[in-house]
Amino acid sequence: MRIPIIAGNWKLNNTVSEAVALTTALKALVADSIGVEIIVAPPFTALSAVHNVIAESNIRLSAQDVFWEDSGAFTGEVSAPLLKDVGCDYVIIGHSERRQYFGETNECVNRKVKAALAHGLKPIICVGEQLEEREAGGTETVIENHVTGGIAGLSASDLLSSVIAYEPVWAIGTGKTATPAQAQEVHNFIRGLLTNAYSDEVASQICLQYGGSVKPENAAELMAQPDVDGALVGGASLEAESFAQIVKRAI
Ligand code: PEP
Repeated sequence: MRIPIIAGNWKLNNTVSEAVALTTALKALVADSIGVEIIVAPPFTALSAVHNVIAESNIRLSAQDVFWEDSGAFTGEVSAPLLKDVGCDYVIIGHSERRQYFGETNECVNRKVKAALAHGLKPIICVGEQLEEREAGGTETVIENHVTGGIAGLSASDLLSSVIAYEPVWAIGTGKTATPAQAQEVHNFIRGLLTNAYSDEVASQICLQYGGSVKPENAAELMAQPDVDGALVGGASLEAESFAQIVKRAI
């Protein structure tokens, strides 16, 4: 069976001392949570300090982005080997904010995914439609595009080291959550794409997270859907108590 994954994307928030305080509080609140993978994704500057706090705990570390080259003249970029070096197990790739504000394309997402996997980092690949695309009936086309573009060229075992997060752009940071039925419909569609591209067996094993205004109040209902295997959480991951409550809803 698939183990649910709850990941907190802190975005551009928290100094090192704030990150340490938040992680210390979270660690105590989820210490006895088993049967769920718990991940925090601080900004680059706090990764090392957070890694020290979560050592030997049930919390894993993720970065929020990665560059596809390992090293060299790429000012401002951070590579997969550097993320491994500070203790990351996961990396979020292709978040809609990266696509929207930094022009990331499916091709760029795919290069980052391959670089992460080549260095033993598990990519959390974000896909999702904008409101106008949904209203124009284009949700499935966009999702198919993001999924097939993001995972192009991956072997089945690479795919099974990856997570796909369905994040409708209109639900991110807006307080508007997809209904459980809307989330289930798209997750089921993604699993169907993976069945066609790989096999039923592979598609049934991969973890598909939902993201978009997940809170303690709506988490249980979303994660009760048969194809929703956890949550990628933005705003509600910035408070230890609310993130811990979402973790507990996944068990
Ligand atoms: C996100 O940033 O991935 C996200 C889902 O944010 P929020 O939970 O704040 O909508």
